[in-house]
Formats: sequence, structure tokens, C-alpha cells
Amino acid sequence: MTDALWTPLADVPPFPTEGFAPLADAFARVLRTRNDVVLVQAEAAVALEAVAHSLGRPGLRALVLVSSLYGRWFAGWLRRAGADVRELAAPPGQPIVAPEVAKVLAAERFDLVFVVHAESAYGILNPLEDIAALVKAQGALLVVDAVASVGGHALDVDALGADLVVIGPQKALGGQAGVSAVAVSEAAWERVAPPGEAPSVLSLADLRADWLETGRKALPGTPSALEFHALAQTLAQVEREGLLVLRERHASAARAARAGALVLTGRAWVSPDRASTLVTAVALPEGIAAAQVLAVAEVGHALSGGVGSGGERLIRLNHTGARAHRAVVLEDLTVLTRALGRLGHRVDPGAVVFAATGGGA
Ligand SMILES: *Cc1c(COP(=O)(O)O)cnc(C)c1O
Repeated sequence: MTDALWTPLADVPPFPTEGFAPLADAFARVLRTRNDVVLVQAEAAVALEAVAHSLGRPGLRALVLVSSLYGRWFAGWLRRAGADVRELAAPPGQPIVAPEVAKVLAAERFDLVFVVHAESAYGILNPLEDIAALVKAQGALLVVDAVASVGGHALDVDALGADLVVIGPQKALGGQAGVSAVAVSEAAWERVAPPGEAPSVLSLADLRADWLETGRKALPGTPSALEFHALAQTLAQVEREGLLVLRERHASAARAARAGALVLTGRAWVSPDRASTLVTAVALPEGIAAAQVLAVAEVGHALSGGVGSGGERLIRLNHTGARAHRAVVLEDLTVLTRALGRLGHRVDPGAVVFAATGGGA
């Protein structure tokens, strides 16, 4: 084998069997949970589908809180499994309203409630603690999609009493999308469908039987060494940096983005306590649409329009993972300031940067 023929990404050494359990344990530390953590060899959307597949059945009554397409997908997977699903949508582009959840829960009993913690589509943060308290008071299982929030927001799974929590390394943790994790409580295991006739990548019960109950050695199937080496590096890096520092890096990038955006357009998309630290939605001035901004912005920028209803009214500044640095935010704000200037909305770039760097605060 010569160097010229060696392809490092294709020829990675095997991932040691005894290396899987420490990764699950590292995820458990990130989640602050003593619950079982299983590894799903796929992106986090598949782990979410596995949760729906493992719990959905005729007779299951589920309340799905919808603040983006992930809630709609989860509702769809549950319905496909025959469950009785009620959806409660957030106001467009805004977080779920906890008193609305309280009303629905007071009127009806549910076996399961699904909520997304933080959303990158609109840069919003759902009131997870309030929702968790309401759900626990009713004795329903709480399913949390924390894929975007993990690493960017405080997430204490055991304190919340969350029963199934899905995360992935590819957002704030700064890793790759190939392996995700699900934390499963004892109460959740009791409701999970047993292993079927044939193995399924969507079966949590299979992971329990074939991995947790066999001493957490070989994972079922053929694990991709490449993905697990990458995950090991990501989780080691997270532990080196420390969760508190990682979170503060996101919080400080978000503060800079919000302060700059406020000076730039004069209004905030959501109030700071309802904003995520991952993405900042900049409410565009009247008469300017996201597509126009993107068309005149300099090349190489990382601005994006919104998705879903109202998405044309905002520009997203992504400060997640490796981008969670004030310098990155300042660059994006400057590109946005110049693009808006070209469209006739002129603001002094110096004033935007001054605000974003804490000027006057
Ligand atoms: C990104 C994300 C997912 C799914 O991630 P994939 O990379 O598409 O698997 C799920 N939920 C939320 C809230 C996300 O932000």
C-alpha cells in the first residue's frame, strides 16, 4: 500500500467493541441522566423515528407539540403506527405556549407528550421546564427532541423527568450526524414494544436486548468505524472544553447576534428568554424579503432564510457548534448590514458591531 493509494477516510482502523459503552456514558454525562442511553447508528431524525416506532400503537394517546417540521414528522410516524394523535401548534415562528398545553392536558388524558427543546428554524426556545412539570403531573411519558439544544442550552434530563430524549452530535456539540443517542427511562422501557420477528433499526427493544442486556459490547449490525471514531473525537472535545464553557460560548454568540440585530432592524424576532442560543432570527424591515437579502449578500456568507410559514420575513444567523463565536457573528452581521444597505435599509455598520460587542450594554 503506497501513500498515493491510501484513502484515510475509507481505510480507518476498526472501532474497538469495548469503545461503544464509554460513548454512551459520555452522552449520559452530557444529558445529566442515569437512564439507559442507547446508540442509534444513524442521524438523529432516524432516532426520533425509532422512538415513534417503538411507542406508537393503536390505543396510544399522544399530544404532539408542534413548533417545526420535527413535531409534524413525529405526529405522522405515531399515526402511521396507529396511535391516536392530537397536535398542538405554536404560534407561527414562536415558541409553544405553556398555558395552552396546560389547558389541553387539563381537558384530556394522554399517554405521551412530545416537544422539541430548541428550534433552529426560528431560533426559538420552548418552555421545556414548564411543559415537563405539566406532563409529569399527568403521569404521561415525556419525549424530548433535544437534537438542536444539547450543548447550547442547559439540559438536565433527570431533573426534568424526561422519559425519552433524542440527541445527536451534529449541532451544538460540533460533530458528525452519523450516530445519535436516545436516553430511555424505566417508565419508558415499560411502554416500548417488544422485539419483533426480525431485527429493526427502528426498534429500541432490539437495542436493549442486543446491546444493553448483552454487556454493552458489540453493537447490532455493522457499525461504521468512521462514524464512531468521529463521535469519540467529538465527545472527547466536548469534555475537554466542558459543557459550561460550550454553553457560554453559544450564549455569548447569541447575545452578540441579538444585540447587533436589534440595532440593525429595530426589532427582535422573539424576546431573549424565548430565543435559542443556536440561531438568531433577524426580523427583516418592512418590504424586504429574505430572498432579496440573500440575492445581494456577498458570496461565502452563512446567512439563510427561514423555513416554513413566515420564513420570508427573517434571516437566520447560524451560531451553532464551531460557529458559536462572536467573531463569526460579527462577520455575519456585517454581511447582513451591507446587504440591507444595498436594498435601501441603511444602518451604520459600526453601530451594529458596537452593539454586538457589548457597546452601551
Ligand atoms: C437537526 C435537528 C433534527 C434532526 O437532525 P438530522 O441531522 O436531520 O437527523 C431533529 N430535531 C431538531 C430540533 C433539529 O434541529
